[in-house]
Amino acid sequence: PDPMLRPESLPEDPGGADRALRPQALSEFVGQAEARANLRVFIESAKMRGEAMDHTLFHGPPGLGKTTLAQIMARELGVSFRMTSGPVIAKAGDLAAILTNLEARDVLFIDEIHRLNPAVEEILYPAMEDFELDLVIGEGPAARTVRIELQPFTLVGATTRLGLLTTPLRDRFGIPTRLQFYTEDELDLIVARGARLMGISSDPAGTREIARRARGTPRIAGRLLRRVVDFALVEGDGRLTREIADSALTRLGVDHLGLDGADRRYLMLIAEHYAGGPVGVETLSAALSEARDAIEEVIEPYLLQQGLIQRTPRGRMLASRAWSHLGMAAPALPGQ
Ligand code: ADP
Repeated sequence: PDPMLRPESLPEDPGGADRALRPQALSEFVGQAEARANLRVFIESAKMRGEAMDHTLFHGPPGLGKTTLAQIMARELGVSFRMTSGPVIAKAGDLAAILTNLEARDVLFIDEIHRLNPAVEEILYPAMEDFELDLVIGEGPAARTVRIELQPFTLVGATTRLGLLTTPLRDRFGIPTRLQFYTEDELDLIVARGARLMGISSDPAGTREIARRARGTPRIAGRLLRRVVDFALVEGDGRLTREIADSALTRLGVDHLGLDGADRRYLMLIAEHYAGGPVGVETLSAALSEARDAIEEVIEPYLLQQGLIQRTPRGRMLASRAWSHLGMAAPALPGQ
């Protein structure tokens, strides 16, 4: 599968194009209407009270705007933004160093918070609840605990796997927020804005074609837009039209539903080798040589949302829409 089309695997574009497209204010942020309306209230209220905003947890598939919203929160609160990620914080001391350097009401963003080491997570609890750190200094009989007062801060956690968060950690977030896939209309606005920021003139049908095939995900929309613009400049007259978008996306292996090679391999495997399922995720992972996490976090959420597959207690099954999308006939059920 083309790694360019996976929402999670590449760092932001080296030229910083992604960053240039990143909305800077809540009012520029398209979509997630419910989350946005709630955040606006909580941000305003925290500012009126002069207190740190409550800890916030964003969960949902990669590329939907978790990092972007955390940055916007800090900007709207008028505080600094610090960013780290669960697997990077190896020891309790690493987290202590980060926390003791925060200034009052700062936003600390921890990406992939479900991958925190348990020893690190332990010291996060009193930090989140009472803005205190209990650190053990020394070893053996000489060990003692020191308590350090922290500035009040806002922890913003992000996770693609809410189910992997421990209950005590999850319970310490006052504002849990689920991000949804974007609608075609919302992605159309995002693509049109991106084209404007890149100085490219675009037809409404051109941006719409990218929006339709962006897998409900702004990060993918941005990436497809940049590739379509490449084709428009080199092989067209520089204008983003529906024809250019369609031919570029088809050449990139993105089909009319926005599915890419990995999605289609997943569906074909269940169709051809397991007669539509049910088949367990471990089996799929081995047969596709894809990590189970990638299947559950990246491939399946969109296929489920599109009604192409079902999750059952006995494994994954193709829905009838998947058979028609693959151009195949579903096998007759026994007794039919
Ligand atoms: P996540 O942290 O959920 O993986 P990011 O916040 O990094 O996602 O967003 C991925 C990309 O999509 C960024 O380049 C960002 O600019 C863009 N993006 C996300 N949400 C929006 C939005 N609502 N409007 C415009 N661009 C967005």
